[in-house]
Amino acid sequence: MSDPYDVIIVGGGPGGYVCAIRAAQLGLKTACVEKRGSLGGTCLNVGCIPSKALLQSSHHFEAASHEFASHGVKTGKVALDLPTMMARKDKVVDDLTKGIEFLFKKNKVDYIVGEGVITAADTVEVKPTSGKKQILKTENIVIATGSDVAPLPGVSIDEKQIVSSTGALALSKVPKSMVVVGGGVIGLELGSVWRRLGAEVTVVEFLDTILPGMDGEVVKQMTRTLKKQGMKFKLKAKVTAAKAAKTGVTLSVEPRDGGEAETIKADVVLVAIGRRPYSDGLGLDKLGVAVDERGFIGVDPDLQTNIPGIFAIGDVIGGAMLAHKAEEEGIAVAESLAGQSGHVNYDVIPGVVYTWPEVASLGKTEETLKEEGVDYKVGKFPFSANSRARANADSEGFVKILADAKTDRVLGAHIVGPAAGDLIQEAVSVMEFGGSAEDIARTCHAHPGLSEAVKEAALAVDDRAIHM
Ligand SMILES: Cc1cc2nc3c(=O)[nH]c(=O)nc-3n(C[C@H](O)[C@H](O)[C@H](O)COP(=O)(O)OP(=O)(O)OC[C@H]3O[C@@H](n4cnc5c(N)ncnc54)[C@H](O)[C@@H]3O)c2cc1C
Repeated sequence: MSDPYDVIIVGGGPGGYVCAIRAAQLGLKTACVEKRGSLGGTCLNVGCIPSKALLQSSHHFEAASHEFASHGVKTGKVALDLPTMMARKDKVVDDLTKGIEFLFKKNKVDYIVGEGVITAADTVEVKPTSGKKQILKTENIVIATGSDVAPLPGVSIDEKQIVSSTGALALSKVPKSMVVVGGGVIGLELGSVWRRLGAEVTVVEFLDTILPGMDGEVVKQMTRTLKKQGMKFKLKAKVTAAKAAKTGVTLSVEPRDGGEAETIKADVVLVAIGRRPYSDGLGLDKLGVAVDERGFIGVDPDLQTNIPGIFAIGDVIGGAMLAHKAEEEGIAVAESLAGQSGHVNYDVIPGVVYTWPEVASLGKTEETLKEEGVDYKVGKFPFSANSRARANADSEGFVKILADAKTDRVLGAHIVGPAAGDLIQEAVSVMEFGGSAEDIARTCHAHPGLSEAVKEAALAVDDRAIHM
C-alpha cells in the first residue's frame, strides 16, 4: 500500500475541489474523490453555471425581441434556436469542468473517480462504476458531498413534465405554461429563463412573500418588477399533489391558511422548494458522525465533526447553501490542516439572485436590525438617478446601505438593479474591513458608472446624496 494521504476530500464541488487545490498548494498530499464523472459538483454541472448560461442567453433573446428597437437596432423577427442555446450551455459546463481537471493536474491533486465511503477515521473506500474498489489511507478526511433536490410530498419528479432544477436546465422545448413551486432564488431564476423564452410562468409559494429572508423593500420591488415582466404569483399557497398526463400536469393547490383547494394545469411543473444535505451511503452512521434531524453534518468552529480528523464543508453542513460559502470553508480547512489559521467570516457572505434586474444582499436586513434593536441609518439611491443606468436603459432598482447610527459602520447592503451581483462586492470588502458608509462615500468612483449608485447610497446615509 502506498503512503497515506495527508487529506482525502470526498466530493469535487466548489467546496471540495477548492479545498483540494489549496491543500495541495500548501504541500499536503491530497486526493479528491468524486463519483459524478466530472468535477465542479452541483455548481458547475447542474447549478450556478448552466443556470447563468441560460439566463444570459434568454436575456439576449428578450433584449433582441423587445429592447433592441429602442436603441435603433433593427433585427426583423427574432427566432429562438433552443438546441443551440442548450448546446452552448453544455459547452460552457464542459469547458469549466475540464478546467478543474487541469487545475488538479497542475497542483498535483490525485483525482479519484468513484463513490467514496468512509469506513474508518483514516480510511476511504472508493467504489468505481466498474472495476475493483480502492482502499485509501489518510490522516484527515473532508466531507464535501453537497446537497440534492429536496422532494415535495405528493409530487414525484420525472424530469420531463415534473422537473427539478436539473430537468429545468435541459427542457427540449419551451412549455406553454410552467408552474414553479417555490419562490426562492432557484425558482425565480429558472422561472425567468422560461418566461423570457415564451412560457407563461406562475410561481406558487407557501410563505407570505417570494425571496423569503431578504430585505422587505427588495422583496416588494422584485415582486412588482417580476409581475411587470409577466410572472404570476400565488402566495400563501400549498401544493399537495401533482398528476402528470399526456395533456399536462394537474396540480392540487390549497390556500395555506385554509379555504377551498383548487387545481392548476401546466405543461411543466418545476419543483424548487430547496435542497437537502447529501450524505447517503457515506457510512456516517457506522462511524458515529453526528448529523442533525434534517441530515446536516454537525461541525465545530474549525469545521471538524465530532470525530477527530473528519471535517465537513459546504452545503452538507448547512448555513448559506452557496458555492462561494463552500469555497471559503474549503480554503479554511485546508489552511488549518497546514497549520495556518483558517477562518470564514459568515457575517459577510453575499447572496445574489441572477434575475434581471439582479438582486444582491449582504449582512443585516432592516427587519433583522429592528428585531435586534440596533439603532441604524438607511441610505438609499435609485438607479433612475444614475447616469450610466439611464444611458444603458437599465434603471430599475436601487442601492440601500444600512449603517450603525452611532459608529457609521456598514451593517448591510441590498441592491436591486443592473449588475447588482458585482456591485455588492464593494460593500463586501468594506464590511470585511469593518468600514463605514463614509469610507464608501469618500472613495472616488469612476463616472459614468453603476457603482456611483453605491457611493450615492453611502452619501445618503448622512443625507448628502448629490444627485437626488
Ligand atoms: C439550479 C441551481 C443554481 C445555483 N446557483 C447558484 C449561484 O448562482 N451561486 C451560488 O453561490 N450557488 C448556487 N447554487 C448552489 C451551489 O450549487 C451549491 O451551494 C454548491 O454547489 C455547494 O457546493 P458543495 O461543494 O458543498 O457541494 P456540491 O456542489 O453539491 O458537490 C458535491 C459533490 O460531491 C459528490 N459526491 C456526493 N457523495 C459522494 C460520494 N459518496 N463519493 C464521491 N462523491 C460524492 C457529488 O457528486 C457532487 O459532485 C445553485 C444551485 C442550483 C441547484
